[in-house]
Amino acid sequence: MAQRLRVTVTENRPQALDAGLAAGDSSSMAQGKHPNMKINVAQLLKEPTGAVRRGNLSEDILGIDDDLEIKSLLTGALKMIRTADGILVTASLRTALGLQCRRCLKPFSAPVELDIEEEFYPRVDILTGAKAPVTQTEEEATIIDEQHVLDLAEVVRQAIFVTLPMHPLCTEECAGLCSQCGQHLKDGRCECTTEVADPRFEILKQLQ
Ligand SMILES: [Zn+2]
Ligand SMILES: [Zn+2]
Repeated sequence: MAQRLRVTVTENRPQALDAGLAAGDSSSMAQGKHPNMKINVAQLLKEPTGAVRRGNLSEDILGIDDDLEIKSLLTGALKMIRTADGILVTASLRTALGLQCRRCLKPFSAPVELDIEEEFYPRVDILTGAKAPVTQTEEEATIIDEQHVLDLAEVVRQAIFVTLPMHPLCTEECAGLCSQCGQHLKDGRCECTTEVADPRFEILKQLQ
């Protein structure tokens, strides 16, 4: 169960959030995807407003979204603060994505930095067991479930999409492809005589 993922992090001393998981590795299959992003915050919820936990996250987020090609572990520092209503998570995370250059169509790997600041709200009151007001449970991604587990996965997934470049380029100065023969222009000029057209205008030509 998710509760076995209780994270013990010490204040002011970053430590792997998955510390302690190794011993119970046989249970990790049952945790589903991205177990290290499921953090049991029962103890922190019992603490007064302003209480802090810090830690480091390291998670294989392969498969977090079918449209994303994840190239490296998601890693970075994480801080959780007990607020009046829930837990504020701030994290500076990084990973790498496989993208396709819009100009030359080559696949390439791009580093991605995620700055996350999101408040999570408990579905139930940790002390009384009472259900939280509906107004606090509108955003499914930021709910601390009834086992007091906070799951960062959806917030991370959304943050990656926000960060994705609209027009990914393998390099800023990528010369793209020859519009006539398709040669990679960075590999040298081709034999084509016509001026190389801006690929953005090529699309317009095809429409005519
Ligand atoms: Zn390119
Ligand atoms: Zn050419």
